[in-house]
Amino acid sequence: MIGSGPAGQRAAIQGAKCGRRVAVIEQREVVGGTCINTGTIPSKTMREAALHLSGFQYQGIYGVGYHVKDKITVADLAFRVKQVIRADAAVTQAQLTRNGVELINGRAVFVDRTHLQVKNLQGAGGFRSAGHYYRHRHQAGRLARRSGERP
Ligand SMILES: Cc1cc2nc3c(=O)[nH]c(=O)nc-3n(C[C@H](O)[C@H](O)[C@H](O)COP(=O)(O)OP(=O)(O)OC[C@H]3O[C@@H](n4cnc5c(N)ncnc54)[C@H](O)[C@@H]3O)c2cc1C
Repeated sequence: MIGSGPAGQRAAIQGAKCGRRVAVIEQREVVGGTCINTGTIPSKTMREAALHLSGFQYQGIYGVGYHVKDKITVADLAFRVKQVIRADAAVTQAQLTRNGVELINGRAVFVDRTHLQVKNLQGAGGFRSAGHYYRHRHQAGRLARRSGERP
């Protein structure tokens, strides 16, 4: 499986549950893809943190002058976002590990139909035979690419 975003995670775990030997190749240092690291989770956490710190959710009870924090900074919001990202990435990584999915850190490049080259962040390379890994859900091949979108 190339990519550890929501699609890659689900497909990898499903493959493992079906008895396949599965590896997820992820180029980022942390799992979770756009969803956990830059898109869904950070944007919603940022919004919730702003609502909480501004006191907006409690102003109906305590009045419009109620604030949890008077001067809200970007650092205040980033602090909360980082906490949530870290927790969600840990849960996702634990799920993959618990299901016996191997995590490989590096960028996957197709060499041919059945082989990938995985280049890690330091630029080292290694070849892996696709034959060991998850069968694509839509094709007869054995590699699944769920390498996602960009924010
Ligand atoms: C700002 C923002 C807000 C969003 N809010 C919502 C929301 O509220 N609700 C919702 O349902 N959706 C939301 N989305 C969309 C959601 O994040 C995506 O639909 C989802 O993340 C797609 O999952 P994916 O697994 O297909 O791809 P991604 O999450 O993009 O994961 C792909 C992974 O593949 C890795 N990868 C790519 N190429 C390679 C390679 N060659 N080798 C190794 N790894 C590779 C990437 O590093 C990445 O980790 C939002 C998106 C953004 C940008």
